Amino acid sequence: MVVGRFAPSPTSDLHLGNLRTALLAWLLARHDTGTFVLRIEDLDQQRVTAAPQVAEHQLADLASLGIDWDGTVVRQSQRLDLYREAAAGLETYECFCTRREIAEASQAPHGSYRPYPGTCARLSETERAARRRQRRAAIRVRAHGAIMTVHDLHAGPVRGEVDDFVLFRADGTPAYNLATVVDDGVQGITQVCRGDDLLESAPRQAWLADELGFAPPSYAHVGLAVNRTGARLAKRDGAVTLRALTSAGVTRQQAFHAICASAALPEADSAPELLNAIRGHDWWTTEAIWRPWVVNTRTAPHRA
Ligand code: GLU
Repeated sequence: MVVGRFAPSPTSDLHLGNLRTALLAWLLARHDTGTFVLRIEDLDQQRVTAAPQVAEHQLADLASLGIDWDGTVVRQSQRLDLYREAAAGLETYECFCTRREIAEASQAPHGSYRPYPGTCARLSETERAARRRQRRAAIRVRAHGAIMTVHDLHAGPVRGEVDDFVLFRADGTPAYNLATVVDDGVQGITQVCRGDDLLESAPRQAWLADELGFAPPSYAHVGLAVNRTGARLAKRDGAVTLRALTSAGVTRQQAFHAICASAALPEADSAPELLNAIRGHDWWTTEAIWRPWVVNTRTAPHRA
């Protein structure tokens, strides 16, 4: 049985694309009478403190579309010890590189994926001591150039190299890849459905899961919502969050219809209604689910 999840970062209200991903993750879990959990990925305290009520808005928006979840909502900021304990047995090293140094040292980026070139892996103890006096270190895992293959519901087998990625930022905060993998493992997640911008992170996450003794999940990376220029949908594109749309006179049902249409799913007023309409069908084979959703913010969803 599937155990799925939706794991938003509470930095801004959910927009149509986020809601679409949440709905697809929910459908994949629930069509199989599986479990669905919610996790608030609030480790970036600076951005979270800047908008303290966002997580509550996100939960309320999901609930208002009928997307429900099992058990209590997990908040990463309350589980810092869990990540530290989980990482304790991994082979790691200190990294003093700035973003700029890394960008300059990685000559051959593959798409947006820039594997860490291993600069600090080769520092001598004396060099390390000298760098420690200048800057606080991030902690990277030593992956020894591992190669990992994951299984994606649409993309099939995806093979990727695993670089020495960051486990803890220089301020000691657990990094996204570590926290997500530990939580997916501890929460028993069997299927990770999320935006396809994270497809390239899947091999390193599955590798880390394996290193930590968790069974790597299967994946379903769905199309992202984009604006007319093909860029990922953002606040500056206008009324794209459910909150902004409803204050502009669009009903929740209309917004939900637009999400259904974007994935070539039958028009329904809520998630449970949609689930009833597609039960027994292989609805996830529809191409539209996996393609970018071009949201024309001038015309769609239509105003009441
Ligand atoms: N918290 C991440 C985000 O909002 C999602 C991480 C994931 O689904 O693995 O982009």
